Amino acid sequence: MQAPSTRAPAMPAPMKYLEDGPTYTPGQTPKDEAGRVFKLSSNESAVGASPAVAQVIRDHANEQHLYPDPDGYPLARALASAHKLNAEQIVTAPGSEALINWLIQGWADKGDEVLYSAHGFQAYRIRAVSHGAMPVAAPETGMHADVDTLLACVTPRTRILFLSNPNNPTGTFLAREALLRLRAALRSDVLLVLDEAYAEYVEEPGYSSLIDMVSDTTPNVVVTRTFSKFYGLAGLRVGWAYVPKRMVGPLNKLRGPFAVTRLALDAAVAALGDPAHQALARSHNRRWREWLEKQVRALGYTTTSSVGNFVLFQVDQGATGSRQLQAALAARGFITRLADQNGLPDWIRVTVGTEEAMHGFVAALQAVSRPQAVG
Ligand SMILES: *Cc1c(COP(=O)(O)O)cnc(C)c1O
Repeated sequence: MQAPSTRAPAMPAPMKYLEDGPTYTPGQTPKDEAGRVFKLSSNESAVGASPAVAQVIRDHANEQHLYPDPDGYPLARALASAHKLNAEQIVTAPGSEALINWLIQGWADKGDEVLYSAHGFQAYRIRAVSHGAMPVAAPETGMHADVDTLLACVTPRTRILFLSNPNNPTGTFLAREALLRLRAALRSDVLLVLDEAYAEYVEEPGYSSLIDMVSDTTPNVVVTRTFSKFYGLAGLRVGWAYVPKRMVGPLNKLRGPFAVTRLALDAAVAALGDPAHQALARSHNRRWREWLEKQVRALGYTTTSSVGNFVLFQVDQGATGSRQLQAALAARGFITRLADQNGLPDWIRVTVGTEEAMHGFVAALQAVSRPQAVG
């Protein structure tokens, strides 16, 4: 028998970067379910999902003992016909955040660099670190991603450039010409991922999706989309990517079969098939985002020009002021999101909600606001 040791036994240990790395901050969930609480912190749809989705879920309630299509192909087919794409180049996923994860896992090795714009979506940095890659944040100019700065940050170790367009949390976007210039100047072995999580909301003429640039002749452009925001299916977890043909096999291996549930696939197909509800989601968002932005500005706050389903505004008193303001709003039942994880500690993001939520939020903001410096 071994002599008893005073030292602790060795334990299985995860990679160090998994213990130390950043974790995603989800939008706060109201704690008091009894009270009147409006969650405006996760960019969830103000109008919810199409009634067709609820019907599909009821209709298919008794089919859930069956596996889904292993590759989510029924949804890929519906997406291909809705967007005039090639179904073979569509990769479905349980949320587009999973796609961000797989792209880094599959295309960036340990120590490789994953580049993104400084106020971009936090998942790029978090997932880079969780795979042992090096996150690199390129400074922005005037709350917009900056093509020249992004290009200047490319090094021989850069493998992926993530750009959320329009961006969360700033809500700003790069016009097509800027994106094409970025694409043209980027080394052809650097993957350019356009995260278009809010594309369906955008009506501004300068905006265009880069999905038509995804092809085998420009094999480094990928577009990701989600059903979580505009289509109101955040709870079911459905996202998809449009990728060059040669990327489909590796992505399918990373995903594995049956990753998107039967219910989620059926619901997403139903959501795609309801243009009236899509028009409602768009017009509600346009109307109340414009209204919200105007009211927030009238109280003296600076906002960005958001084209998403959220408004971002700056609090004069810095990081402490924004935390205090967020807490004061929460105490009145309005949960918002600090942008501190996106390098913007003095900014607060608020999701466009229902008419009731918007009126209530503006009244609460008015009540808790200190006078903002004019300028
Ligand atoms: C919400 C969001 C996502 C992730 O959405 P999923 O629910 O994982 O599909 C991806 N990118 C951006 C910019 C987002 O805001």
